[in-house]
Amino acid sequence: MENIPHVRERRPRQKLLPTLLKTAPLLICLGFFGLAYLVLSSFGVLRTTASETQPTDTQEARMAVSDTTVVTTEAASTPPETTLPATTEAVTTEEPTTAPATTEPPLGRCIYLTFDDGPGRNTEKVLDILDRYGVKATFFTVGYYVDRYPETAAMITQRGNCIACHTYTHEYDQCYASVDAFFEELEKWKTAVKNACGFVPERVCIRFPGGSKTPNAKNVSDDIKARLEREGYEWFDWNAADNDKYPKGNTKNLPDADYFWESYLETIGWYVNKPNAQVIFLTHDSENGTVEILPRMIEDLLERGYTFKTLDEHPDWND
Ligand SMILES: [Zn+2]
Repeated sequence: MENIPHVRERRPRQKLLPTLLKTAPLLICLGFFGLAYLVLSSFGVLRTTASETQPTDTQEARMAVSDTTVVTTEAASTPPETTLPATTEAVTTEEPTTAPATTEPPLGRCIYLTFDDGPGRNTEKVLDILDRYGVKATFFTVGYYVDRYPETAAMITQRGNCIACHTYTHEYDQCYASVDAFFEELEKWKTAVKNACGFVPERVCIRFPGGSKTPNAKNVSDDIKARLEREGYEWFDWNAADNDKYPKGNTKNLPDADYFWESYLETIGWYVNKPNAQVIFLTHDSENGTVEILPRMIEDLLERGYTFKTLDEHPDWND
């Protein structure tokens, strides 16, 4: 009995070795296939990992696409917004003096309101309107009327506006009879202003009756201009107007104020795309319609971003 356990113990040993020997090829095969499986599994895992990252890449790609789409959409939506500054800059290049060659800041839109042919019965109304909006203007006065309305003439300067010369008589025949005749007109104007205002501007600014290009002055205008320059005068025409002294233009027979307003809109429209426009606006304090539209005109100019100045602030002054 004692052997039995022993035998029992050995029997398995005796049987294990042959069994191992018999099954070795199988085990080797199994090991080989197991190893192969592991290797293949490893590849499988990698492939799975790759296949898992792919969607992520695709998602990123999709996001990138959507980002691009967003950018593209923005780019598509921005041109109308960017077109305006681009156009403005393109227009700016038309202003030769605003090139960045100088360090001076751009002038911006400026309006030089000029009231001709006064002083008269509407001048004080005009001054009141200007004061209401806190803006200044230049008054090209006729000496003859300065003598007749001295208090009104004085009011022009007392309220901080610029008084300027529009000859003494405004009569073409007399003003443009000769160069000397024109300068006699200027001297008479100075006397009238000295009497009314107590002083004569240090540098007198002149506007030719009818403008410097009027056919009435064609024989003498060049000589007058040369002498004005020699003697230190300024002179200015205009580049916008409300046509209040041009009734022939009112072909639709509009009421005066409506016609003036239309003319104003038309001429101020010339400068919409000129951010540094220096607009010298011709109007007359002698016309009722002008007084009527003046508040509306000033409000419109303010909305358009204009700065109101007098001609002694113009860049061409004393140039
Ligand atoms: Zn005039």
